[in-house]
Amino acid sequence: EAETKRSYSEKDQDYLWHGMKPYQANGTPLIAESGKGSWFTDTAGKRYFDGVSGLWCLNLGHGQEEIIEAAANQMKSLAYFPLSFGHKPAIDLAEKLSELLGGGYRSFFANGGSDANETAFKIARQHHKQSGNPEKTKIISRYRAYHGNSLGALAATAQANRKIKYDVNVPGFVHIPPPYAYRSSFGSYEEDDLRAAEYLEQTILWEGAETVAAFIMEPIISGGGVIHPQSDIYYKKVREICTRYNVLLILDEVVSGFGRTGKVFGYMHGDGFFPDIITLAKGLTAGYLPLGATCVHESIYQSFKTNGTTNHFRHISTYGGHPASCAVALKTIEIIERDQLVNRVARLEQTILRKLHALTSYSFVGDVRGIGFLYGIELVKDKQTKEPLSDETIKTIVAACQKKGLIIGKNGDTVPSGGNVLIIAPPLTSTEDDLTFLVKTLNEVFSETDKEASS
Ligand code: PLP
Repeated sequence: EAETKRSYSEKDQDYLWHGMKPYQANGTPLIAESGKGSWFTDTAGKRYFDGVSGLWCLNLGHGQEEIIEAAANQMKSLAYFPLSFGHKPAIDLAEKLSELLGGGYRSFFANGGSDANETAFKIARQHHKQSGNPEKTKIISRYRAYHGNSLGALAATAQANRKIKYDVNVPGFVHIPPPYAYRSSFGSYEEDDLRAAEYLEQTILWEGAETVAAFIMEPIISGGGVIHPQSDIYYKKVREICTRYNVLLILDEVVSGFGRTGKVFGYMHGDGFFPDIITLAKGLTAGYLPLGATCVHESIYQSFKTNGTTNHFRHISTYGGHPASCAVALKTIEIIERDQLVNRVARLEQTILRKLHALTSYSFVGDVRGIGFLYGIELVKDKQTKEPLSDETIKTIVAACQKKGLIIGKNGDTVPSGGNVLIIAPPLTSTEDDLTFLVKTLNEVFSETDKEASS
C-alpha cells in the first residue's frame, strides 16, 4: 500500500479539540479503546485503573451488560420521543427518583449537569415571580464550586480560571466561601462550619433577602478539590437559613448522588437536611448515556399551576429525558440497589481513607480528606505555610501515576487559586485488589517525588 495508515494519536492531533489539559499530563494524549470493570485499555494496548471513574461518572465501571441491554431494548421499542409529551421510561424514572428522595418530588429531565442546573435557576426565578416575589432573582453559590460550562452554570461556578476568558457577566450571581477547615476563612477547625453558614445569612441580608432566589451548593465540593464540612452543623444551619429567608436550596448532586459518598445522596449526611431542588447527572446513568435531572419539591411545582396556563415553564430540551437514557438510569439504580453498592462504599470508606491518610507522612501532602469513594489529596510546598506545591510538580505526579497505569484527577484551577488537589473517585464497583493497586501506586509515586525533592 502506498498510503501509510495514520495512527490515532496523529489524527487526534489534527482533528480533536480536547477539554482540559491534565489528562494529557505527559504530553501525548491517551486514547482509550476498550474497558472492563474499573480498567480500560488504550490504543497501544496498555491497561489503566480509572481512579476517577471517567469524569466521576462511570460509577459501575465498563461492561455492565444489563445496562447495555436496557438501552438497546428501549431503542428497539421507542427510539425517541419528546417530553412535551410523555414516555414510559421517563415516567418510571421520575417516580423512582421521587421515591429515593423520600417522596414529593417531580423531575424535569435534561442532558447533563450543566443544563440541569440552568433549569433549576430558571425554575427558582419563575417560582418566586409566580409567588408574588418578582425581585427574588439572585443566586448565591460558593467559591470553589463547579456547576457547569454554560454561561448561567458558569456564573454560579466560582473558580476564577475557568471564567476569566469568557466575560461571564451574567447578572445576579453572588459567591460566598465554603467551609474549608484546612484553609479556614473563619478561624479554627471547630468554628469553620458554623461561621461559613453564618456568612450565608449575612450575605442574604446584605444583598437584601427580597432579592435572593436560591442558594446552590454541592453537599461535597468535588471538582473544586473535594471540600466538605467537618460536621453536619453546616448543613443544619444552611437549611434553617434558606427556610427563614424563603431562599430555595438547590443541591447540586451531579457528582455526590447515587452512592458516591456512601449514602444514596450526599445531602443524607446532614440530619434534617433536604433540598428544595436537587440536580442530578453523571452517576444517574453510571456514565453509559447522557442524562440530567432537576427534581423539584412538589410545593414549588404547584406554584406553576396557579393562574391557569400562563404559568407554564417555557423550557424544553430535545434530548433531555431521552427514552434510552431513562431506561439506562432505571437499570443503573436497580443494580445499585440490588448489589447494595451504597453500603459497600460506606463499608470500605474507612479502610481506604485510613490508607490514604497515611500519605500525609510524605513531605508535600498537606491534607487528605473525603467521604465514601471521593477523596482529595492537597499538595503543599510547606506544611506550615500551606503554600501550594508547584503546578509543574503536581503534573509530574499525575503523569507518573499514568505511566504506572493509574489515572487520577487534579482539580481544574491552576495554582495558586486551587489547582493543588489530586482527586480520586474510583468506580463504586472497584474490587479490593483494584483499591490496593490505587494506594500502592500512589505510595510509589509519592516516595519517588519525596526523594527527588530532597536530592
Ligand atoms: N455539577 C457538578 C458538581 C459537576 O461536577 C459537573 C461536571 O463535572 C456539572 C455540574 C456539570 O455537568 P455536565 O458536565 O454534565 O454538564
